Amino acid sequence: MIIILLGAPGAGKGSQAELLVKRYNIPHISTGDIFRDNFKNETPIGKLAKEYIDKGQLVPDSLTNDIVRERLSAKDVSNGFILDGYPRNINQAEALDKILKRFGWEITRVINIATPLDLLVKRISGRRVCSNCGAVYHIENKKTKHEGICDICFNPVVQREDDNEQTVLTRIKIYEEQTKDLIDYYNEKGLLSNVSGITIPQTDKEVVEILGE
Ligand code: AMP
Repeated sequence: MIIILLGAPGAGKGSQAELLVKRYNIPHISTGDIFRDNFKNETPIGKLAKEYIDKGQLVPDSLTNDIVRERLSAKDVSNGFILDGYPRNINQAEALDKILKRFGWEITRVINIATPLDLLVKRISGRRVCSNCGAVYHIENKKTKHEGICDICFNPVVQREDDNEQTVLTRIKIYEEQTKDLIDYYNEKGLLSNVSGITIPQTDKEVVEILGE
């Protein structure tokens, strides 16, 4: 099963991906997470990516496509995977098509999480992440048990640097200008399904109706 999650920043792609991982037992591949891991480990890729991430811009396609190609060469994807945050424009979608073709794989479904704009901004500005394990919280909707401390690994919970207001607006603008085109791209291929993206349980229910238990 190969699932692509489309949606603006804050649409809830990561939250849905977590639920899908549990349900289908396939890995969650988030290019944002891969870049953040690289930065944490101070790799050259991480340093380069951070320059773009901090401005809310897309990391260049050539680097992003290479990273995905490498990730999809790992053994754990043999039963399928969930892509979150990739592709983000037509160029990346075409690169992905080539990678999939090489492996003889086909996309099962592209789920577009269509969250309204006011909700996106609210979710991103309240989002907090664990500085160590990356677990995601929200100051209103998903509080930590102890303020500012991760429930899982007890490290400090912080705001992502690119979740500040200015960067968020750039990220949403880039989504509107580039990523939204993918809705038509996959619709024309007959692969697209839309879900409402208002609450996590409702969105999940809609996703299950599309993909099955
Ligand atoms: P995300 O965690 O998906 O919100 O991504 C955080 C940031 O990582 C984005 O704002 C981009 O700067 C970068 N990024 C993640 N995925 C991609 C991608 N597919 N193409 C280019 N840049 C990306």
